[in-house]
Amino acid sequence: MSIPTPSASQATPAQPTSFATFNAMPLQPGTLDAIAAMGYETPTPIQAAAIAPFLAGRDVLAQARTGTGKTASFGVPIVDRLRSGGSPGIVGLVLVPTRELAIQVAEECRDLAKGSRLRVVEIYGGVGYGKQTHDLRAGGTILLVATPGRLIDYLGQGAFKLDQVQILVLDEADRMLDMGFIHDMERIIRVLPVKRQTGFYSATLPPPIQKLADKMLKDPVKVKVESGPTTTTLTEQRFIKMEKADKSRALLVLLHQEQPERGIVFTRTKHLARRLADQLQARGWSCVPLQGNMSQGQRERAMDAFRKGEARLLVATDVAARGIDVPELTHVINYDLPDEPEAYVHRIGRTGRMGRTGKAFTFVQSDEARDWRTIEQIAGLQIPRHDLGQLPPEGPAGPDMDKAPVVYKGNGNNGPGGFRQPHQGGHQARNAPDQERGPQGGFGRSGGRGPRQQGRFSRGRSSGGQSSQKGSHGFSRDSYR
Ligand code: AMP
Repeated sequence: MSIPTPSASQATPAQPTSFATFNAMPLQPGTLDAIAAMGYETPTPIQAAAIAPFLAGRDVLAQARTGTGKTASFGVPIVDRLRSGGSPGIVGLVLVPTRELAIQVAEECRDLAKGSRLRVVEIYGGVGYGKQTHDLRAGGTILLVATPGRLIDYLGQGAFKLDQVQILVLDEADRMLDMGFIHDMERIIRVLPVKRQTGFYSATLPPPIQKLADKMLKDPVKVKVESGPTTTTLTEQRFIKMEKADKSRALLVLLHQEQPERGIVFTRTKHLARRLADQLQARGWSCVPLQGNMSQGQRERAMDAFRKGEARLLVATDVAARGIDVPELTHVINYDLPDEPEAYVHRIGRTGRMGRTGKAFTFVQSDEARDWRTIEQIAGLQIPRHDLGQLPPEGPAGPDMDKAPVVYKGNGNNGPGGFRQPHQGGHQARNAPDQERGPQGGFGRSGGRGPRQQGRFSRGRSSGGQSSQKGSHGFSRDSYR
């Protein structure tokens, strides 16, 4: 596997120096075996820079995004330090913003801990307590991966204590703050031993995050990995000028041209994610939605199908897709522009990872020209246009037309078996472009807003009237996602 050229820089002198290979690191044989079994041959820049200070017992302040190999950059040293077991109880804690990330981080740490006495347990909201409580009670030496809310719930019940934690990692600290977890995080930190090692990971370090880091870290080694440019240069990006009413046909044409092996289609609303997934299924694309109305079980099954390649396409909203990790992604298609311009970089950061090339296409409506320019400025690129040519009256069929559809049994409200079967209800009717239009002429946005007079980003920045959450630039994020 090709790895991007190391670009990590260390603001304070690294003590000890970073290592270019895993074998050169003072790791236990069991950890090296686990790394080899996972197929990791060369440390990524963040791993080369962060593992050494971690192993030396230093606090680490790391600026790195998803896709850089950041999980193993703390997972390897934590697991290595704790793998011999020792005292029972929770000895390591990783705090993450979302359940998807909790599952992924726990999976990776579990792989790294294979053959050791360390147990990795994950807890997160949106599901019952039964299994998680059972896992926690099974005893042994535990590395706990938790979202703040569920952890606070357990602490409130007096289910366990955190007074034996030796290592704490905050993963995606900026996202946690963004999602309003600051008070939960502070409450958790108060019940941790003062004498501990801390890793603080964040993609960005605006003043409130820096302040929190200063409060939590003692003389940290600072590690920064410039993943943005690496990612964007590895992703071939194009925009397609397309009006709302034609987007679903245009998507079928684009998919037909590109034949993506594994791609994510981003939509603005969860309703659209679900409907578009249905439409794509009906037109022969094995496809699953990932959106906020799905139960945790449904989301996990959808992600599982996508990871295993049973579904080539995932249709997702930004919120639902946050933190998901799919390394072998070939395409990202922005059916709708994101509400926050930075989300564009996050979205396309899911392709072109770890030295692989990927492609990103974005539909831009004529009333979104201004928003698109803002995105280009933030991405620091002028993105070329792609022309789909004349759209046929009906979009071409996909490669999985004759395959059985990907069906999820679940307790969703789309009928007895979970998601709607594509062959019920007629393809043509659902596939006709006009079906996309709601009473206001398009179903991309709820609430019947009229045509935009100015860019969404500039409006969102100042209004915030219906915003329930603020992004890092304070853009309004609609609550219906
Ligand atoms: P992360 O930034 O932790 O989400 O990692 C992104 C992806 O890179 C994950 O799928 C990891 O399994 C993979 N990965 C992490 N470290 C390495 C490595 N040293 N070599 C190859 N793949 C890696």
